[in-house]
Amino acid sequence: IFVSLKDFINLGLASPLLNALAKQGYKKPTPIQIQAIPPALEGKEILGTAQTGTGKTAAFTLPILQQLLPVLKDKNKRPIRVLILTPTRELALQIHDSITHYGSQMEVFHTVIFGGVGQKPQTDALRRGVDIITATPGRLLDLMNQGHVNLSRLEHFVLDEADRMLDMGFIHDVKKIFSKIPSKRQTLLFSATMPKEVLSLSNFLLNNPIRISVAPVSSTAEKVDQKVFFVDQKSKRLLLKSLLNDDKSAIHAALVFTRTKHGANRVVKDLTKNNITAQAIHGNKSQNARQNALDNFKKRITRVLVATDIAARGIDIDDLSHVINYDIPNIPETYVHRIGRTGRAGNSGIAWSFVDIEEHKYLYDIQKLIKIEIEIDKNHEFQALPNVEMGKRVQKPKRNNSNEKRFKKNKPKKAQSQKKHHEKKSHNISGLEKNISGKENDTSYWGSDSSGSGGAFTKPKN
Ligand code: AMP
Repeated sequence: IFVSLKDFINLGLASPLLNALAKQGYKKPTPIQIQAIPPALEGKEILGTAQTGTGKTAAFTLPILQQLLPVLKDKNKRPIRVLILTPTRELALQIHDSITHYGSQMEVFHTVIFGGVGQKPQTDALRRGVDIITATPGRLLDLMNQGHVNLSRLEHFVLDEADRMLDMGFIHDVKKIFSKIPSKRQTLLFSATMPKEVLSLSNFLLNNPIRISVAPVSSTAEKVDQKVFFVDQKSKRLLLKSLLNDDKSAIHAALVFTRTKHGANRVVKDLTKNNITAQAIHGNKSQNARQNALDNFKKRITRVLVATDIAARGIDIDDLSHVINYDIPNIPETYVHRIGRTGRAGNSGIAWSFVDIEEHKYLYDIQKLIKIEIEIDKNHEFQALPNVEMGKRVQKPKRNNSNEKRFKKNKPKKAQSQKKHHEKKSHNISGLEKNISGKENDTSYWGSDSSGSGGAFTKPKN
């Protein structure tokens, strides 16, 4: 029965896991899985460079589940043996779902712990006894301090998205949690990027780890059909509406990014007014509201999900056809990160970016990073084309150009300082992402290429 799973069998996985993978319809392990599973099954420690979308959740979950198999026969209340720490609630929920799938053929108990919701269901689950917890650091520490979580029998510790964890200021929480777990355990650390802060954390947490990494994913950009639309900030909403109403573009589901929470709310309001179903997902929304927005979008109840970068972290949406940058990001890596959400799993993706004259410098930086000159759509009716050599930094607007008045208006000192203020503010908002490569979701991993070689990856060194 497992013929089609022979590559997973070769990695050393046992039948409860193979059955679960068959149910998921997986055919081939991804590069990160090929590298991580065999050593992790042996109990080795791992320092992995991999982004969401590479299959890294299975890479650490499968070997841990397999190592739990012998203890699952114990019908008594079992201690917490596995802790998976992640920076965001969305990611925690996603990993929790993955454990449900990968562990579907075994009697494993697991729960998810994060803030922003009542703690009762979480403490109830803990009281009943769980083998695995997936948690964000803040609430976990809270529950530990209240005596609800005992990690003294922990055997496996996973730190996921370590770079984001540090960017989000969780380092002290992580260290506090870490001080409460046994020194004899298996630790697996994954990070999208390896800045020196993550390396020093890994020196602190890991013992002689095997280093693995999957190819950088800036090539994602090549697989996504990208376009920019030069448009005045104030006309962006009209452009969005017209694109969504255009039958030719046939947009079934679009993830729209705005720079601010406020902006996200405004877009939703405007679309709703125009009978286009939309919901927002951002930091000011409760966990329930965010989950509800995400579920509705996944079920295609809403056509448009409007998100800020921070809120969109870690959300996994399959089959996303369109990413629309309502505001093009001011950090180039964020662009790669955003458009990596489309064109997953071998599907072709479309990424459109609305660029106001003030945002040209961001476009310039993005093109420099991805080494692609993004095609300019000149067929829309809200053109705000400056007089530039395409794709280069904007110098001056064209005479008689409709932007001229606006440009002049923006020239005085006051407007300049406003702009600075705006930049500073938006930098703070996205500043959390400064160390993130954004090289997410290389679809080549399980694209049509059946050679199994997938993306380039380095052999584990030991
Ligand atoms: P992750 O990087 O763990 O967030 O995984 C990204 C997506 O890839 C998830 O939707 C997984 O269900 C899917 N996935 C993981 N491993 C495989 C595989 N070997 N074959 C096909 N899909 C996979």
